[in-house]
Amino acid sequence: MDFSLINSATMMIIIVVGQFLSGIFILAYTSRHERSKALNTFLISKLLQTFAWIFMSHRTNTPGVFVNAASNILLFTGVTLELIAFLILKESFTKKNKKAYLSLLAGGFLVYSAAAAFGIAQNIKITIASCVLALLMAFPVYSLFTDKQASLLQRLIAASFSLTVLMLLFRGVTSVTSGLDLSLSSSNPFNSWLYVVLYLYMVTGSMGFILLDKERMDAELVKAATLDGLTNVLNRQTFEKRSAESISLFAGRQEPVSCLLLDIDDFKRVNDQHGHLMGDAVLRGFASTIRSMLRDDDLFGRYGGEEFSILLPGADKNQALAIAERLRAAVEAQKMEGHKEIRYTVSIGVSTLIPDRETTTDQFYRLSDKALYLAKSRGKNRVQAV
Ligand code: GH3
Ligand code: MG
Ligand code: MG
Repeated sequence: MDFSLINSATMMIIIVVGQFLSGIFILAYTSRHERSKALNTFLISKLLQTFAWIFMSHRTNTPGVFVNAASNILLFTGVTLELIAFLILKESFTKKNKKAYLSLLAGGFLVYSAAAAFGIAQNIKITIASCVLALLMAFPVYSLFTDKQASLLQRLIAASFSLTVLMLLFRGVTSVTSGLDLSLSSSNPFNSWLYVVLYLYMVTGSMGFILLDKERMDAELVKAATLDGLTNVLNRQTFEKRSAESISLFAGRQEPVSCLLLDIDDFKRVNDQHGHLMGDAVLRGFASTIRSMLRDDDLFGRYGGEEFSILLPGADKNQALAIAERLRAAVEAQKMEGHKEIRYTVSIGVSTLIPDRETTTDQFYRLSDKALYLAKSRGKNRVQAV
């Protein structure tokens, strides 16, 4: 590959077309659903960058101050908005970040405009413009990188953006130290590399944003399909599906599996005395208390209403009884603050089987339900095994 053949004028046209097409494709992508703030921001950023590069490509013919300033201001703002769109998508565009970031953008404008107004040498202006852009990109890139839950896709995007930041800093330094003309319109080996990196930045920005948005939506759909909306524990369907998998695994090992069925005592009274909303809060608090006391391998699901189920893979009857008793005692001890203090208890039915290939989740459920019935009829707030 001969990089010296890369021509700046051609690359500018490619970038104009690329940014414009990205905007059109994103517009089409969002035509079927409500456009989010992140998507709107991203669309505007694509529009601004398209115009920025159109102005850039006219610089050679009309080297007036207006075209020069407009192209840079559009580029700074366009790039900033594109990265803000990523931050909004990742929910990291907090009020504090917003202030710091917009001040940085305003500062960048001021420094660059002052440099232009004082008629500073072209190579120093290039250094300033490159460093301002690198600085504007640095914070979102850092934020994308340090996100502990970042997916592989997000890390790739961050890596590609980092390359752009490094390239811009390198351009800033080279412009003052080498004496080369690094104006975007001139064709030279340095600019060939610069344009390759800028092209990568454009592709990463557009493709990455759509994929990241899709990744977020998929995660939301999976969550909505597998978790109970009120308590955030597994919904019944998912609980049963995962239980079946676990039971079949332990059937192969010939090890015991226990199932607990939990039903809050006199929950109707909680609703009647404190209202349905408070009842909902009690259910959320209950689920979170129980979840915090279980191991990662245990399955915890809401069967409906105020009835929950737990599968304890590998737990024999004595272990299951001990765990159930700990859970019962924790619920009895906990206090919930409403307009009045709310206390409530739970009854737990326990069943244990060494499963075989034919054992079903339903079998566990029916046994635990029988035990739960006994616990209720013997006075509630107790653990009962069958
Ligand atoms: P028991 O000790 O016999 O279990 O009595 P209980 O009152 O808990 O049992 P019952 O099954 O008669 O009543 C359950 C109540 O749970 C009735 C229903 O209104 C309430 N409930 C079910 N789902 C929800 C919910 O999502 N939110 C709220 N706040 N209440 C719910
Ligand atoms: Mg109940
Ligand atoms: Mg019930």
